[in-house]
Amino acid sequence: MAKTKDSFCDFCGRPSKDAQIMISGVSGQICNLCVEQASEIVQKDAQAKGIPSTKRYPIGKDALAKLLKPSEIKNHLDQYVVGQDRAKRILSVAVYNHFKRLAQQASEDATIIEKSNILMVGHTGTGKTLMARTLARVLNVPFCIADATVITEAGYVGEDVETILTRLLQAANYDVAAAERGIVYIDEIDKIARKSDNPSITRDVSGEGVQQALLKLLEGSIVNVPPQGGRKHPEQKMIAINTENILFICGGAFEGIERRIAQRINVRPLGFSSQDIQTHDFSKESLLSFVSAQDLRSFGLIPELLGRLPVITHLENLDAQALRMILTEPKNAITKQYSKLFEMEDIEIKFTDDALDFVVSKAIEFELGARGLRSICESVLLDLMFDAPSSKEKNIVIDRNFVETKFKTSEMGKVRSKPVKIAS
Ligand code: ADP
Repeated sequence: MAKTKDSFCDFCGRPSKDAQIMISGVSGQICNLCVEQASEIVQKDAQAKGIPSTKRYPIGKDALAKLLKPSEIKNHLDQYVVGQDRAKRILSVAVYNHFKRLAQQASEDATIIEKSNILMVGHTGTGKTLMARTLARVLNVPFCIADATVITEAGYVGEDVETILTRLLQAANYDVAAAERGIVYIDEIDKIARKSDNPSITRDVSGEGVQQALLKLLEGSIVNVPPQGGRKHPEQKMIAINTENILFICGGAFEGIERRIAQRINVRPLGFSSQDIQTHDFSKESLLSFVSAQDLRSFGLIPELLGRLPVITHLENLDAQALRMILTEPKNAITKQYSKLFEMEDIEIKFTDDALDFVVSKAIEFELGARGLRSICESVLLDLMFDAPSSKEKNIVIDRNFVETKFKTSEMGKVRSKPVKIAS
């Protein structure tokens, strides 16, 4: 490799003085610009043929040293997600192992580490999406959320399963290699449970059919993705994405699964723990912590799909104390966000403790969980956000009296939390 005088690139004819480097071969030489161009062509061709990107962008053993350790990942999660300690630990380990797996692939070891896709079971508004989103941000990888309910089996009204990857590709700015290392959160996975134990009386196009289609993504294969989404059609140009290194996190409320868990642990014939379980009064809440693949199978997830979701965790329901913390503690806590909004108008707002307690009590009364906190705050603060920018008041204290009055007159406050009988 040398830059000799009066020589030319045998590919483009550029004189050596115009190139940074000339690479000499047996009977010719090539300039650095041609090498770069050729490399791009090779990469594009590899992409088109679906050659895994790990080969093109290997993660070496050194990369392992740079990985965040499970405790560090959890520390990050702690800053945004209140409670859910066990789920955070399980997720941190699963993600860490996932990246270790990528590092191992590059070294082509004999023992193959399998993918650790994750299934999170927990009621709505307990932080499943927040957890997945925070993970993606911490790890700095492309992330997308897909809703399992809009997907149907190919040929039926709805979206193809491949559109999930379209979203990931869009999140990665169409960088295929980045997308191939992304995280996909599939929400409402419980809604595609098999409708009945007896398959095939009628076609189950939005249930088992979708689970079958999802298998292809989850197990790690090359999937042709329509870059703009929508239904696939023959003339469309497709982008090949290898899902081998994409981490899939699925979440669902699995309403009523506690009953199945209770049935399973109560009928267990032998063993110390079964005795233990029978003599204790387990609340619905604590039953969820025993959730296993068996319960999810009886709920209607097919065994093949469960086999590809080896890490199962549950999220606890949020009690008043957790809801109260969600209002004030996380890095982007709701009250912090409102303070920021007012701060931009040079207005300082302060919530009193009893005002926050009132918001929490309404979220519990309406059974809205953490999701409700925001809507309650929004309805309570609407008038203030409307008037404050044109007012001279720069210090506002939001106390219980204020929130109570505003809530009563808001649309939300006019609705009763408990269903009322409508007279016919
Ligand atoms: P899920 O996916 O379980 O239905 P989300 O993660 O979408 O619930 O939660 C909805 C909102 O509620 C989040 O954006 C967040 O503001 C808040 N939230 C829920 N759970 C938590 C939590 N454990 N810690 C902090 N905020 C939470």
